[in-house]
Amino acid sequence: MKRNSLRTRVTTFYVGMLAVALLVFSVAVYFGIRAFLTRSLERTLGNSAQTIVSDYLVPLGQKGEPWLVAEMTESYPPGYSDPFIRVSQGSRILYQSGDMRDPFISMSKIPLPLNPEWFNTFHRETVSSGQIVVLYTLTYRTPTGSLIFVETAATIESIQHVLHSLLLVLLLTTPTILVVAAVGGYLLMSRPLRPVVVLTEQAERVGRKEMGERLPVIRTGDELERLSLALNRMIERLETALAHNHRFSADASHELRTPLTIIRGELESLIQMPTLPPHVIEGIGSALEESARMAKIVHSLMTISRLDCGDEQLELVPIDLVDIVRVTLDHMGLLAEEKHISVRTVYRPPVYVTGDPMRLKQVVVNLVDNAIKYTPNGGEIRVSVAAEKKAACIEISDTGIGIPADSLKLVFDRFYRTDQARSRESGGTGLGLSIVKAICDVHSGIASVESIEGKGTTVRIEFPLLALTLAQADQIRTAAQLGVPSSDFVSFSDGANEVSTRH
Ligand code: ADP
Repeated sequence: MKRNSLRTRVTTFYVGMLAVALLVFSVAVYFGIRAFLTRSLERTLGNSAQTIVSDYLVPLGQKGEPWLVAEMTESYPPGYSDPFIRVSQGSRILYQSGDMRDPFISMSKIPLPLNPEWFNTFHRETVSSGQIVVLYTLTYRTPTGSLIFVETAATIESIQHVLHSLLLVLLLTTPTILVVAAVGGYLLMSRPLRPVVVLTEQAERVGRKEMGERLPVIRTGDELERLSLALNRMIERLETALAHNHRFSADASHELRTPLTIIRGELESLIQMPTLPPHVIEGIGSALEESARMAKIVHSLMTISRLDCGDEQLELVPIDLVDIVRVTLDHMGLLAEEKHISVRTVYRPPVYVTGDPMRLKQVVVNLVDNAIKYTPNGGEIRVSVAAEKKAACIEISDTGIGIPADSLKLVFDRFYRTDQARSRESGGTGLGLSIVKAICDVHSGIASVESIEGKGTTVRIEFPLLALTLAQADQIRTAAQLGVPSSDFVSFSDGANEVSTRH
């Protein structure tokens, strides 16, 4: 159970609401029943007193006290009684029923009604055993003017008993209901939330691999359906904006190429003029250098944009990565030698991938070029190519200046350079690794970098490994030796070949 999940929060919320509702309900039931039982008891006591007045006290004047005692003894026989009845005149008791039975309360302990505040009303008396007795004192004035008190009383023990039982039931059932509601609610919530989980998983995938992917539309006709449709419309708008962006960069860099070539041509013919003073020659030379740099940037930008918007015609063929790396390193050996950098290679051939040979070569060139650029004289570069599980991996490590930890995430961004001045001096444009990433993306590859400042950097590239039969591998080798595209040569009809893709 995740503490911060929507499911937990909704369950907690509604169990909380249910707890409050049950509490209010329990309190209302408890006090409601207590009031009802108390009122019933009082009504019984009041009615009994009224009956005694009308049946025995009204005829008292004609029939006399002995008649009263005889009649009442017959109606309310002595012994235990409930309710207790006492008829008195001042401090003289005319009639008194027996003590209360359950629980036993000796009624002789109850004082006579000498307090006028008790007249014609209910009051409570706590006896020595701690029992509470409710008493009703009804006054009757005889035709001769003397005051007779009729008292009826009962213990509230039975009410308390009912209330205790009720409290016990409420205390046991409330937590049980809450636990059942929490567990049931948590389990039931999984069903309506399932589409949200599917939506989230798909949203995580959208845009990782290919454009044009959409979220599944949840046909529930409710907010979730509207949400999935709205998200799809948003993805569409983002894709359109991104495509415009890529197209703009591609078009802009393409348009800039021609004027740049003309400027360079003009500068080159200017510098040939014989009578130019030295400072003009120096100026033209510097302008030529900068225009060459600009041409390099424009070319890199165009490459990235075309790769991003899918304009680049890729010649995807099965190819051995080791061959690509070996040939590229042969061509770049001189650069390393100039700086007395030793290049160590570790190949575990063959490592087949499906890719565009020129673009894969460009990846190696950019990475090795960086390793040489950012490694001081006398350093070391290690290049390894190996097949690991389903991935073909190239690792290029150097003993160079390294990359600060906070820049590691940014080095694949366009125009990002860890140290602008240093990189510019070494001829860097901040686009080399962006090109590497763009090429990796179109080959379903992953580029990553690890570095310790002052110690060195390792760039790792992973491509989906191509599983080949021995015969097919032989064919690729022969094609490479003859210099023809392996796709012309190798047949992939037996289904043994799968491009293993990694995301
Ligand atoms: P640049 O053309 O400036 O080298 P990149 O895109 O190739 O641009 O690299 C981006 C930045 O990452 C560089 O400016 C550099 O600071 C840093 N970087 C790349 N590779 C290395 C490396 N092997 N060692 C140290 N820093 C590196």
